Amino acid sequence: MSERKKLVAGNWKMNGSLAANQALVQALRQGVGQPACDVAVCPPSVYLGQLQQLLAGQTAIALGAQDLSQHEGGAFTGDVSATMLKDFGVRYAIVGHSERRQHQGETDLQVALKVRRALAAGITPIVCVGETLREREEGLTEFIVKRQLSAVLHLNGHAINETVVAYEPVWAIGTGRACDPAEAGRVMRLIRQRVAAAFGAPAADAVRLVYGGSVTPDNAAAYFADPDIDGALVGGASLKADAFGAIIRAAAVAPGAPAPAGARKEQPT
Ligand code: PEP
Repeated sequence: MSERKKLVAGNWKMNGSLAANQALVQALRQGVGQPACDVAVCPPSVYLGQLQQLLAGQTAIALGAQDLSQHEGGAFTGDVSATMLKDFGVRYAIVGHSERRQHQGETDLQVALKVRRALAAGITPIVCVGETLREREEGLTEFIVKRQLSAVLHLNGHAINETVVAYEPVWAIGTGRACDPAEAGRVMRLIRQRVAAAFGAPAADAVRLVYGGSVTPDNAAAYFADPDIDGALVGGASLKADAFGAIIRAAAVAPGAPAPAGARKEQPT
């Protein structure tokens, strides 16, 4: 099995202010130190410039966006292009979050096109897939996840290694009703099998799969213990430095996480 570094990304959604962001980043920087996993924060796009400055000169926390346009540029009022995001040092972009699929009517094809745009710009897309409560109750979980994933793979399969897939059951987002870790792990394995079927075992082994939906410091370790769950996309808890820091620490000590620098011992031969 390949060494997949865990990723913990915070989705701030439409929250924050200049003052609140500054306080949160300052507390986070002190709290997380140099984590043994990848960490990103995804503020509203108007604050990307501020966050770029706040995060300058450190490597512990990367900058992410919550969305990007499927277009290169032009007459698309209100949209932000991948090239613009690159100007602000953005490394990750959440794509196809269920709130955008639901409120902005984003289709599977649009999501796939956005993923392609992100990859072309050198931004790692965090593609969200997941079923609604009704779809789960109707036994459609696998069908929905595979359908959403297929659109992305169809256009971007060649770069699946550089893509992060977030399994985010819609009914678990912001509800406090987290998905059972064993069930989240089962869906992750479905996703990995689907990637393997399309692009082979090495691609399936390399793609990072993260879970999102009411992750907290109390339940994070249970997700990270699953060998197929490579991190978390965190909403509400990412707005509190102590909670987000605790989730990052849980990822850093999870099985498979690299030992912190200085803690590695040479194995006797
Ligand atoms: C999210 O917004 O992607 C999310 C997972 O939110 P929460 O952690 O609040 O459920």
